[in-house]
Amino acid sequence: MGEKYQALVARLSEIRNVDRARAILSWDQQVNMPRGGAKARAAQLSTLSRIGHDMLISDETRHLLQDAEKETEDAAYDSVEGSMIRVTKRDVHQATCVPTQLVADITEAEALGHQVWAEARANNNFAAFEPALQRILDLKRQEADFLGFVEHPYDAFLDQYEPGMTASRVKRLFDAHKSELVELVVAVSAHSDRANDAVVRQSYPIDKQRAFGLKMVSNYGYDFERGRQDEAVHPFCITFAQGDVRITTRFTENYLNPALFGTMHEAGHAMYEQGVAPELEGTPLSRGTSLGVHESQSRLWENVVGRSRNFWSWAYPQLQDTFPDQLKAVDLETFYRSINRIAPSYIRVEADEATYNLHIMVRFELEMALVTGALAVHDLPKAWNERFESYLGIVPPTDKEGVLQDIHWSSGLIGYFPTYAVGNMLAAQYYRQALAAHPTIPDEIGQGKFDTLREWMRINIYQHGRKFTADELTQRITGEPVECGYFVDYLKAKYTDIYGL
Ligand code: ZN
Repeated sequence: MGEKYQALVARLSEIRNVDRARAILSWDQQVNMPRGGAKARAAQLSTLSRIGHDMLISDETRHLLQDAEKETEDAAYDSVEGSMIRVTKRDVHQATCVPTQLVADITEAEALGHQVWAEARANNNFAAFEPALQRILDLKRQEADFLGFVEHPYDAFLDQYEPGMTASRVKRLFDAHKSELVELVVAVSAHSDRANDAVVRQSYPIDKQRAFGLKMVSNYGYDFERGRQDEAVHPFCITFAQGDVRITTRFTENYLNPALFGTMHEAGHAMYEQGVAPELEGTPLSRGTSLGVHESQSRLWENVVGRSRNFWSWAYPQLQDTFPDQLKAVDLETFYRSINRIAPSYIRVEADEATYNLHIMVRFELEMALVTGALAVHDLPKAWNERFESYLGIVPPTDKEGVLQDIHWSSGLIGYFPTYAVGNMLAAQYYRQALAAHPTIPDEIGQGKFDTLREWMRINIYQHGRKFTADELTQRITGEPVECGYFVDYLKAKYTDIYGL
């Protein structure tokens, strides 16, 4: 490694330090901070964010980058050096291509938008949110022009969360499995008596929920020497260093699922971050490569493993021991079906595996139309309800349970939703590949052994951090780009069995 390259890495690690300090303040804001700290904290976060941004786009960083690039010209594409230069160039480009004034206008519109949205949602009043959303869309449309795109302005937004993904590819993937999902949900509804969730909706003391969840994800391999769990209203995973990757969970006394599967979900994100190769620590490469790949890991451990019959054949006796009053008289099959009940619902974050992507498709299609102006903001609630009815067969009784439910649009997160669906598809695709390499994995899960699966993920995905894009990674592992077919096969096999279709 040459001198210039080392100087660049040292500079990048300082930038990362500023960024991680900001992350700690943000974690504290969501976990510990009293309400009175909100104003000062917003100012502190914004100061650190500006310092980090200025350091990244400074002449110093750019000169170091140019020098290091010359010095590492011969570095192989998949080497750490080659990847560091490639990813940093991309980061610097993204941070500089949008004029500072527009960035400031967007930040302000988002802050205001979030406030207006929270109030509009509380009052179930979409009209109050309309002007703020229109302003955000106008500014984001300008941002897309600066970010650049080939086919559709939406590509510019997608590219920030899922580099390389385009609107036309998302559309193709969604069109390829939308009707199959709709058919599956309709078929299941004719047999809805085969699964109900009464057993998980009893009273479950929170301290025991916490202990059980922690035990499960420790078995998965989430390393608590390098992590911890706290409570937060909106659960998340956050990384301060490879040795400090934290998760948060929300507990509901009268419903077992949110904390249990939420803990598995966030632990899936955390294991990805903990599994990045130590040599990448402190650099821009030391984190998950895209939101879709990240979500593939949370979904894998939450659903593919955590909602499987094999997993519960091992874990259920322990859960019964933890909650004898609630579960002693409930057999494994009844419990297994209760956590895998499919039923159309209004709220995305509570959706089951089969309806989840349909929720995303509604949002994706509306976002696309909003970005081009084909759909007026004023007509959004009506368009939402129409699509909802055609895909899920139900109409939200209020906008609060419909178009106003998500935080994303008020925070300018256009193009974010498809990454959740991509995560579901990739989880099935990667799992299939892991099984091809190690057919014993399901049996091992049935014995509470998760090492083979986790190690396969670590070697093939985690360790690379951001060295490869989601497409490159998926090609390397599975020999194809992201596909929806494996996800559909997985759902059909599982739910044909559960619902006796
Ligand atoms: Zn997630």
